[in-house]
Amino acid sequence: LADPSVQVPQLLGSPLLDVRGTSALPLPPALYLQDGRGRLNSTGADLTAPAQRVPLQAALASTALRAVPQATASEVDAAMARLHAGFAGWNARPVSARAGILRRAADDLDARLPEFCALLVKEAFKTQADCVAEVREAVDFLRYYADQAEADADGMRGRGVFVCISPWNFPLAIFAGQVVAALVAGNAVAAKPAEQTPFVALKFIELLHQAGVPADALALLHGPGETVGAGLVAHAHTAGVCFTGSTAVAQIINKALAAKPNSPVPLIAETGGLNAMVVDSTALPEQVIDAVVQSAFRSAGQRCSALRLLCVQSSIAEGVVEMLRGALSQLHVGQPANLATDVGPVIDDEAHANISRHVERLKREAKLIAEAPVAETMPRQIRPVAFELPSVQHLREEIFGPVLHVVRFDGSVDEVIQDINALGYGLTLGIQTRIDSRAQRLADEARIGNVYVNRNIIGAVVGVQPFGGEGLSGTGPKAGGPDYLRRFCAEPVLDAPA
Ligand code: GLU
Repeated sequence: LADPSVQVPQLLGSPLLDVRGTSALPLPPALYLQDGRGRLNSTGADLTAPAQRVPLQAALASTALRAVPQATASEVDAAMARLHAGFAGWNARPVSARAGILRRAADDLDARLPEFCALLVKEAFKTQADCVAEVREAVDFLRYYADQAEADADGMRGRGVFVCISPWNFPLAIFAGQVVAALVAGNAVAAKPAEQTPFVALKFIELLHQAGVPADALALLHGPGETVGAGLVAHAHTAGVCFTGSTAVAQIINKALAAKPNSPVPLIAETGGLNAMVVDSTALPEQVIDAVVQSAFRSAGQRCSALRLLCVQSSIAEGVVEMLRGALSQLHVGQPANLATDVGPVIDDEAHANISRHVERLKREAKLIAEAPVAETMPRQIRPVAFELPSVQHLREEIFGPVLHVVRFDGSVDEVIQDINALGYGLTLGIQTRIDSRAQRLADEARIGNVYVNRNIIGAVVGVQPFGGEGLSGTGPKAGGPDYLRRFCAEPVLDAPA
């Protein structure tokens, strides 16, 4: 058995293995039993910690969203011409000057944390714990990429105009991470945020300009992926594309890039996942449930890293399912602006309809384990829910919401890992076991970007847990890791041999 006193976060390259001792339970086991006594926020957030004492309510009252105009085709063209012309000047600046701008922007963003949290609540309906974590992640990206660029200054040579297309689920952190990575490497950047979350993107781009990024090195273009996104990808000045979103859209972008006369144009894509957690009979059920609740239901399941498939060895499955019922009954499903809320609404009507269809189908075809109650009713809510499926093969598509699928298994854990590999995705995986050698072996067998042992599988920390997948989950390199910036760079010019 693992020595529970040892806590060894280890960076093993790819996949990443984070080994934690199993004695350090973050929450008391009784929390998820239905004992009717007081509760904590089940994300595990300490509501009294300084992070939670930022004046969010005041910021919510004073922050308003504004509509943003969509870019026309001629505006896209004009922006690309401006960036194409501005690239050389930006790329010629010393790396330390570009890194200095990122650090200034990081300090500004840090100082404006409540305002950006309020924007995230209003535009993306995120819970306050999620908002604080997201603003901090964006700040981390800025500082980390500034440091990385300086450490590898000779390699930082931009390719030209980079197009960054980002998702609504991390409208600040992923948006910022893409844009500043491309910028600090020396590229000019055309940024195309998700249609659902344009305003937080606008405020961040303004902040970058105020920190010193010139107008001809960075442009923000709003609009649908099908028109504005496609126009940017196809543009003659596009020297690279960075995309986070669905696997299907990454494939469309890849095809469009392949058809360009200046092809090959590199694509950096981080896409979907069918993420699993494998629980063997030695696992600690209380720890499993805590990890499952955070991984499957936090952020209303709207993370690429979120848990979709919980595979539990039969001998402990009954107890785990029973505790899962208790955990679901304790979740606070409500208004994102309410500090007690664990799960807010999903992003839009289309997402709500897709997830609801899946839930309705499973209510007819699978075994319902439990569904969380609603504390405060509001539009586009999905009640967090768990179903039991007969096998891993029964889940074929990523459902981007708070829906957990549970599978019991009798065979070996190695067979389960083979089934998970066969799904073709490879973003995150959880392993819950108290046998160290087994955790290591499964992590080695899994073709998965981020493997987490005896903990949740979300919230990769910049610089500590580089994040990215393989197979259908993306091209790499991992965001927030030491190899990321180089992919945005042209090959260094070598000195002529003497
Ligand atoms: N980096 C995030 C995490 O580790 C997920 C990013 C995403 O959903 O695209 O949870």
